Amino acid sequence: MTNDVRIDFDAAGGVDLDRLERSLALRVERIGNGRFRVGGGTQLHWVDLHTVSHPRCDCGDHLWRDRICKHILAALLREGNERVLTALPRLLARAQTARQARTEQAA
Ligand SMILES: [Zn+2]
Repeated sequence: MTNDVRIDFDAAGGVDLDRLERSLALRVERIGNGRFRVGGGTQLHWVDLHTVSHPRCDCGDHLWRDRICKHILAALLREGNERVLTALPRLLARAQTARQARTEQAA
């Protein structure tokens, strides 16, 4: 299958919730099969989900830390990637916990 995304999530540290949260604010434009232009941060980045060679994204977070960066996460969300979608409830639960903590502080 050509639209297979072969990302070793576990080797890359899994889906990081901080990065996932930041990825939601990015602008993502699909420019080809598995290829995306991701903006909204300070720079524009290019993501290729289907490449088997490194790197999939040209940002420092991915290049140097070898993490699944927010740009790749943003692209994976558009592709409906199971692993990223199933991390969303954890992100929401975390946001709710943070909100509760703030409410308790204010009370
Ligand atoms: Zn990136």
